[in-house]
Amino acid sequence: MKMIEVSNVHKKFHNLEVLKGISLQVEKGEVIAVIGPSGSGKSTLLRCLNHLEIIDKGAIIIQGKVMVSADSSDKSHYKPESEVRAACRKIGMVFQNFNLFPHKTVLENIIEAPMIVDKISKEQAVPIAEELLKKVGLLDKRNNYPSQISGGQKQRVAIARALAMKPDIMLFDEPTSALDPELTGEVLNTMKELAAEHMTMLVVTHEMGFAREVADRVIFMDNGEIVEQGAPEEIFLNPVHPRTKAFLNKML
Ligand code: ADP
Ligand code: MG
Repeated sequence: MKMIEVSNVHKKFHNLEVLKGISLQVEKGEVIAVIGPSGSGKSTLLRCLNHLEIIDKGAIIIQGKVMVSADSSDKSHYKPESEVRAACRKIGMVFQNFNLFPHKTVLENIIEAPMIVDKISKEQAVPIAEELLKKVGLLDKRNNYPSQISGGQKQRVAIARALAMKPDIMLFDEPTSALDPELTGEVLNTMKELAAEHMTMLVVTHEMGFAREVADRVIFMDNGEIVEQGAPEEIFLNPVHPRTKAFLNKML
């Protein structure tokens, strides 16, 4: 079964067409790096998958569950709220700016969603959160507030928080872009471990080394379109499209 099926997705903000017919299929366990210039629609694409934005045209199916279908003129029709939520339920997302709750401790940040969304008790949620904190190497920070840990640590907490909902798909939107260079490695390592466990991952990133080393497939977006995609060695060593070449020349 495909994990994500996106067909001819169009998205406008007022008169600005930000996604111009994106089609994309993601297999189970695939790690995809999405690269491209600022403003090309990468974040918007991820946000559409997670129902943080509404698409205008096209269809999205998550793990066989239709979130939004398209009619014969390609106009989108969203399923009822409960079905949309069921389709997105297994998608976790990590943002550039961590988005931790500042007034909650590290542990409280992680147990919040399982308790509220999954309605599990605190007694059940805490051991799961502790296990995840151990996994990202931050069990000793469980009682710290976000202001009391580094940016890299905050992002690892954000990853643990997303994993607490037992996602089948993880979306990362430039997870290391807000970090000082010396802190990116610890976050990328946590992501590499997830990839090694065969998590299905869609990662928007400017870390070309990570894309090259970890991704199964690299997608180059520009101006609301997927311009070129392929195995990392194809994209990085033999890009075909002039826009891909120009972008990589700037990045590498
Ligand atoms: P990227 O992540 O590739 O930098 P984005 O998806 O964030 O690109 O943005 C694509 C375009 O959509 C940009 O021109 C951006 O200004 C615009 N945009 C994004 N979000 C909104 C919004 N909520 N309202 C209006 N325009 C937006
Ligand atoms: Mg972005």
